[in-house]
Amino acid sequence: MKTPLSQFPNFHVLVHPLIQHKLSIMRDKRTPTILFRQLLKEIALLMGYEVTRDLPLTSERIETPLEAMDAPTIAGKKVAVVAILRAGLGMAEAMIDLIPSARMGHVGLYRDPRTLQAVEYYFKIPADISDRDVLVCDPMLATAHSAIAAVDRLKESGAKRLKFICILGSEQGARAFAEVHPDVPVFAAAIDAKLNDHGYIVPGLGDAGDRLFGTK
Ligand code: URA
Repeated sequence: MKTPLSQFPNFHVLVHPLIQHKLSIMRDKRTPTILFRQLLKEIALLMGYEVTRDLPLTSERIETPLEAMDAPTIAGKKVAVVAILRAGLGMAEAMIDLIPSARMGHVGLYRDPRTLQAVEYYFKIPADISDRDVLVCDPMLATAHSAIAAVDRLKESGAKRLKFICILGSEQGARAFAEVHPDVPVFAAAIDAKLNDHGYIVPGLGDAGDRLFGTK
């Protein structure tokens, strides 16, 4: 089940108990990298189920061992999964597991630690991005600078139908993102109230990239 937040109608929190339970384990600082990575993937799979709910269906004539039938299949299969590097990689892999025919794009952004602004260092996306439903993955929507910059670039490149998928959002990030990209729905497992002076979500789960890749 998803609930839009009343002040951010385009921000959907996926309140399924399995997602919430797994997220609590991810938040715990004692959770080791191997488990953090597994849980991130499991949450992304569960979120992917909800986020892809509106993919259009068509039908295909097949034969079961008993008789012919018109079986529902996804129409067109034109999806692109875009990972914001590097923490978005874990979520994007889960999405690709769900939609193996999807193409994948990568947007490399780092946060300038002084200004907290997003700085781009890599951008590679499918050439036919304008024909695709684009699922942008980044576990943390904190200040939303990276999310806004990534979606700016994707729109400049022709993307028209986008969804942003994160594990955790902040109220500030949700507001900032909705101001610039009100047409892009955001899906999250939870939204936290605060950001600290370094732009980290509080209580949050720490640095998602470091916890995912064991770099700290
Ligand atoms: N990026 C992270 O990895 N964690 C935060 O809390 C904010 C941004």
